[in-house]
Amino acid sequence: MSELIAFIGVGNMGNPMANNLVKAGKKVKVFDVSKKMIEKAKEKKLDIVENLDDLITNEVTTVITMLPEGKNSKEVYLGDKGIINKVSKNCLLIDCSTIDIQTSIEIGKKANEKGIKMIDAPVSGGIMGAEKATLNIMVGGTKEAFDIALPLLKIMGKNIFHAGDLGSGNGAKICNNMSLGITMIAASESLMLAKRLNIDIKKVHEIMKNASGNSWPISVYPPLPGLIDGTPSNNNYRPGFSAGMMNKDLKLANECAKQVNASTPLAKMALEIYDKFCEEGNDTKDFSAISKVVGGDAWNYPID
Ligand code: NAD
Repeated sequence: MSELIAFIGVGNMGNPMANNLVKAGKKVKVFDVSKKMIEKAKEKKLDIVENLDDLITNEVTTVITMLPEGKNSKEVYLGDKGIINKVSKNCLLIDCSTIDIQTSIEIGKKANEKGIKMIDAPVSGGIMGAEKATLNIMVGGTKEAFDIALPLLKIMGKNIFHAGDLGSGNGAKICNNMSLGITMIAASESLMLAKRLNIDIKKVHEIMKNASGNSWPISVYPPLPGLIDGTPSNNNYRPGFSAGMMNKDLKLANECAKQVNASTPLAKMALEIYDKFCEEGNDTKDFSAISKVVGGDAWNYPID
């Protein structure tokens, strides 16, 4: 059977990921519920299918989903017209969405019961990583399913990790983003302190990049403009990775911590800060705009 990939959810991340598969010569058909995202997919000349029913046939050999939340994955895979009721047993399911571990396991188990292989494969590296195909991809599922998925994952990412059983990909991703949410606030605090101390932010940024205060938000994705080209802070804080998504991930992290009785005081505080920022209507801004909260009246950058 010839290879056919059904890609569902061509938003900020899914669009460049699907595009990289096409560039690698793969036959890919895409679907999204958002008209805006469909327009963007058209700009990339992706092969769009108008509805999910027409996309998911038994000719599909791989389904890749890149959806916002667990409820979206559940609907698409397990809903009335869910994917697991429509694909053939030979089809591999890859959910790249960042979602809660329980939902991931539930979907994977139900797929397995029907003889269908599934992995959770959330990613990190942001839209720049998605565009450049340098994503880190963390996989939960059997080694057999991991090995089958690996050639496709290598087209979309650079470092591909087998984290463990179903759900472990999301477990690893939640741990990663817990640190990211906290370090974005820390980087913002440092750079805004430098500003208030009247030290050239560019100098402090350069120093921190080479010194022990370095972090991903400093070296790759600074929360203030004028430091690294192509970052959301240089583009009026358009996402990128939205504050709403980070808020979701910090909620997932805090819920996980509660379930296993782990002490995560900084994650709790970070969630409170993002919660308030999102409640004030900033959920669609890039998450690096959290520097606005930290900066107070000293923060004077363009934001859409
Ligand atoms: P996004 O909102 O830009 O894209 C998600 C897309 O899914 C949207 O276009 C939406 O219309 C579509 N969608 C929702 N429900 C659907 C359904 N039932 N059927 C078809 N399409 C549907 O989000 P994103 O930034 O691309 O993030 C996607 C996932 O990747 C999230 O779980 C996020 O946490 C994770 N992630 C994002 C980034 C980033 O930098 N943006 C980085 C790493 C991981």
